[in-house]
Amino acid sequence: MNTRRQLSVKTAAIILIVGLLLSGCASGKIQEQAPGQGTQYENGGAGGPVQPDDANQAGDGNEDSLDGQNGGKDSGTDSDGNAGDGAADDSRNGQGDADKSPPQPIDLSVVKPNEAGRVMVVMFHNFIEKYEKGDKDYTTTFDAFEELLENLYEADYRLISLNDYISGNIDTPAGCIPMVFTFDDGTPGQFNLIEENGELKVNPRSAAGMIHEFNKTHPDFGVRGTFFVNLGNQTFSGAGTLEQRLEYLVGMGFELGNHTYSHINLKKDGKTAAIIQKEIGGNQKELYELIPGYTFTTFSLPYGAPAKELVQYVIKGEYEGVSYENRAIMKVGAEPAQSPFGVKFDPLATPRVRSSGIDPVAQDLAWWLENMKRSNQFVSDGDPETVTVPADYEKLVNKESLGDRKLVIY
Ligand SMILES: [Zn+2]
Repeated sequence: MNTRRQLSVKTAAIILIVGLLLSGCASGKIQEQAPGQGTQYENGGAGGPVQPDDANQAGDGNEDSLDGQNGGKDSGTDSDGNAGDGAADDSRNGQGDADKSPPQPIDLSVVKPNEAGRVMVVMFHNFIEKYEKGDKDYTTTFDAFEELLENLYEADYRLISLNDYISGNIDTPAGCIPMVFTFDDGTPGQFNLIEENGELKVNPRSAAGMIHEFNKTHPDFGVRGTFFVNLGNQTFSGAGTLEQRLEYLVGMGFELGNHTYSHINLKKDGKTAAIIQKEIGGNQKELYELIPGYTFTTFSLPYGAPAKELVQYVIKGEYEGVSYENRAIMKVGAEPAQSPFGVKFDPLATPRVRSSGIDPVAQDLAWWLENMKRSNQFVSDGDPETVTVPADYEKLVNKESLGDRKLVIY
């Protein structure tokens, strides 16, 4: 009796300690887990109609084309195929990770990591106070965005940068799901500065400002995201100079991505290698003048891709002595992206999930959040040095992508 009691006290203590050691997502789940219940991680009612890796391979047919596709719906709007930033060598990232404690051992049967699962790369465009007549699906209200951040956090999502996603450098806590935010066009609702007592600060009523505020109360959520800008156009507006705005945004921990100099329609007007290089290299040249040393590494295609034989100039080129190379190009494709360790991972054709707008659209973010099973998503093991996958996902892992990381199968 005594021994037995000691044993159960010991077990309870171990569970508590493990719970404390695991930060964020995993610990909460362990505490909530009722005795004898194995699987707490499947999202309730997640037997949705379409599951990546199972039935729905809809987007895969397009992956060799760089076309920004609109999910088949609104053809008139900005259907950017987007490119991610490849700025791995970009040392401007605002957040230092220096004081992170080393990852702790996890109970795989409880956390159920799956680092071969899908990652949602979300695409945002405009942010406004309130919908008005004529507003499009590509627009998000601030209130909806605030609610979204809360919902994402509660559902265990944590932000990572696009470059960390591409590089497989994922340090999301165990049991949490990495997510990437991207913003196209440099619109003021995404980010702008205001002046207060003679000082510039981020407008709390902007997407970047709201992420910043949210992170004050949820410090493990992350201040991450890539802003694809056209520096030949009005970018962000508001107080401060363009240079000050870009510096401020990067200083907050966000990344900048290339979206061409003037938001050219490459499909229609990108007729020659020279035009394409002027638009992409010209945007980089302008950025060097504004933030010396900041190299775009990801790209977002406005409207779509040029002819096949010219696509190489979207990836790599030179304009007036300024060369560029994009590590990733985003599509508008309406599905979650592959794991960076997956056999199908192709950063030059990264699909994005579009943010939910004024009207629900099939396979927008709200749809995926409701219909995607947790077991098909990238659930972190908490250790960037290991890649942990369930046994039935082993065949989906590209072993050559692992580098020095250790593969753990359970
Ligand atoms: Zn655009």
